[in-house]
Amino acid sequence: MGPFIPTSTNNQILSILTPDECGRLGPHLAYVHLAIGEVLLNPGEPIDFLLFPEFSMASVVGGDDTGHTAEIGLIGCEGVVGAEVLLGAIKAAHLVNIQLPGSGYRLAASAALREFSLGGSFQRNILKFFHVLMTQVSSTAMCNALHGLDDRLARWLLMCHDRFDGDKLPMTQEFLGLMVGVGRPSVSIAAHGMQSDGLITYSRGKITINDRAGLIDRACGCYKAVTVCRKVHANSRSISDSVPVAPVKAGKAGSFSVIGR
Ligand SMILES: [Zn+2]
Repeated sequence: MGPFIPTSTNNQILSILTPDECGRLGPHLAYVHLAIGEVLLNPGEPIDFLLFPEFSMASVVGGDDTGHTAEIGLIGCEGVVGAEVLLGAIKAAHLVNIQLPGSGYRLAASAALREFSLGGSFQRNILKFFHVLMTQVSSTAMCNALHGLDDRLARWLLMCHDRFDGDKLPMTQEFLGLMVGVGRPSVSIAAHGMQSDGLITYSRGKITINDRAGLIDRACGCYKAVTVCRKVHANSRSISDSVPVAPVKAGKAGSFSVIGR
């Protein structure tokens, strides 16, 4: 494999690395194919690598002591899986697995920690991603508490569509129910309604997005809030590059400290 070229990827953190950062990180970045269901992190296990998705999507899944599970967040080309290790985490808190297959870049946690400590655009863009993820997770919590299944399902389908290369999303209704936190019968009724309205088509484990604008109309305002935050960060390179960010020491659990502030 040749040297890593930032413009060759659509991952929003890797695509704007500086030449110096590419020189340091490039030799440690491994291009990988990601299959549906592939486990990236297991709860309680060490975080040995970070994964930067391209046209693929990972799901952060929480579970309670009765075995029930629900999606907490999703990560695609806007971010990176496992970045909590840069904030001092040693072990994964939740299961993270691939829900939409595709590709990405894998980076050893030790190499990421070294680069993060230098305080350049790599650090800056990881921190911006954390803000995007925090907004997404908090909006999802509010949405699950306040909004109806139709709203939530439309929002979730749009968030997947944003991160996938194409209109045919490979997913089952069982999986859909897990992701929006309801049983299969409920999600089946909601999906059927969307199909009757021409918004989606469901067949053999694939959901086709037929009418994106209609889905946006159907979704609650939470989708717009999360999307605006993500787009602001994606378009803010020139502004953020002018803002100095102090180098950060990272790597030891609970010892996150900013130098020179
Ligand atoms: Zn909502």
